[in-house]
Amino acid sequence: MTEFRQARWKEPLVFERSTPGAIAYSLPAVEKEVKTSLPKPIESIPQSLRRQTPPKLPELSEPEVLQHFVRLSQMNYCVDLGLYPLGSCTMKYNPPINERVVQHPYFSLLHPRQGDSNIQGILQILYELQQWLAEITGMEQISLQPAAGAHGEFAGALIIRAYHTERDEFSTRREIIVPDSAHGTNPASAAMAGFDVIVVPSNKDGQVDLNALQSAVSEKTAGLMLTNPNTLGLFEQEIESIATIIHEAGGLLYYDGANLNATLGLVRPGDMGFDIVHLNLHKTFATPHGGGGPGAGPIGVKESLSPFLPIPLVSYDGNKYYLDEKRPKSIGRVHGFLGNVPVLLKSYAYILQMGRTGLKAAAEHAVLNANYIMNCLKDVRGYSIPFAPDTWRMHEVVISAKPLLHDTGISARDVAKALLDRGLHAPTFYFPAIVEEALMIEPTETFSKEELDRFIEALHEISEQAYDNPAMVLQSPQNTAITRLDEVRAAHPRTMALSWRMHQKRLKPKPTKQT
Ligand SMILES: *Cc1c(COP(=O)(O)O)cnc(C)c1O
Repeated sequence: MTEFRQARWKEPLVFERSTPGAIAYSLPAVEKEVKTSLPKPIESIPQSLRRQTPPKLPELSEPEVLQHFVRLSQMNYCVDLGLYPLGSCTMKYNPPINERVVQHPYFSLLHPRQGDSNIQGILQILYELQQWLAEITGMEQISLQPAAGAHGEFAGALIIRAYHTERDEFSTRREIIVPDSAHGTNPASAAMAGFDVIVVPSNKDGQVDLNALQSAVSEKTAGLMLTNPNTLGLFEQEIESIATIIHEAGGLLYYDGANLNATLGLVRPGDMGFDIVHLNLHKTFATPHGGGGPGAGPIGVKESLSPFLPIPLVSYDGNKYYLDEKRPKSIGRVHGFLGNVPVLLKSYAYILQMGRTGLKAAAEHAVLNANYIMNCLKDVRGYSIPFAPDTWRMHEVVISAKPLLHDTGISARDVAKALLDRGLHAPTFYFPAIVEEALMIEPTETFSKEELDRFIEALHEISEQAYDNPAMVLQSPQNTAITRLDEVRAAHPRTMALSWRMHQKRLKPKPTKQT
């Protein structure tokens, strides 16, 4: 077993480290006696917006703050430490140069209220990014506004709605078809935009069942949302037939391109007949994400749907760049100002570094790595490859630990925990729901063969241990900062404390009822 031990600090909460009067900054005092006709800073804030009592914040010195967060980081795992094979999440290397780009004062000191003439530089960058993403996806026009993949889907679903509303058909076209191998956000976004969701099953090869699709389609069909490659890591072989079926029924085609990492520079949703697509810049274009952090989920559309895009669009009149807000058919605003500009800038820098050939090479290596893992694991005792085991995968592979559970009582969850003990992040598990005991592995292109081999070796070892001594596996993880959690308690509303205030309330004994 690889030697691995995570730091285990006895680190109190930042509130518990608080010492009254400690401060983590030093600024020159405000000079009270200076004669000036200008308003004092505090006086320029309207009375109604001023706090009457100071906020209850922890009080620490600057070194204490730093120690606290460095210790927490040492008890954590991150993509800079090693393989992070969370399927569907594309946890690839985030080049630090991109952080330097966004921290440049030309960008970091921009104010959202500056007028167009004042921010020509950033507008040019955003305009070029729109052009690049249009070329990459084969679409006519891109909006950079949505802040996440699911947000892009929602905006896309609103565009489908606006399209049918304009044709006076929304009252009858209320159904969006979603294959059961789609990402879970697809049906949620369609439902939020006011559609009824019709689920079509996959066939035994993990592809959309064309017969089922035919019978699901009708004059009520507003569109189809397709995750491609699907959550099994499979490319939809019949994608052109799928497109034809939906278009002939009068519906629109939505392409969930969150996992474009598999097809970048190889095929384009626009060429496959799709009308709307979203991308996750925070996956494919190497901007850090996770833990609910910021992202960007731009959407692209074909020419005929362009009037419905969210406002503002970044436009160019041949002379200057400007924010185009006069778009009467637009679904409106979905984000403040220019979108998540730091994420957009990092993606811009990434595309600039990679170029055409670099992006294509990234996709090819991501696919190669996923297939390498599949091939190294397919004969390991306890794991199986559900759906088309002899078909190449794209960016990810889903393996099932169902045989292992049957033989040894060790589940996919236990395998995931045992990986943590070996200094590796676990894959996504129990997703997609169409695979029992699923472990969904996406290695991305950015890790070395040695790192992939370490992961494969660990899965081998866990399988052997499960057959020899399952009780050992059940003890994992032992080497991490926190050992096995009671997952039911951890997720129970009565034990969860999401803030310091909530935590303190939890600690107070509940008044007992008098009888
Ligand atoms: C990640 C993902 C999404 C959702 O993206 P968020 O940015 O998390 O909202 C949607 N579809 C697919 C296929 C994904 O992998």
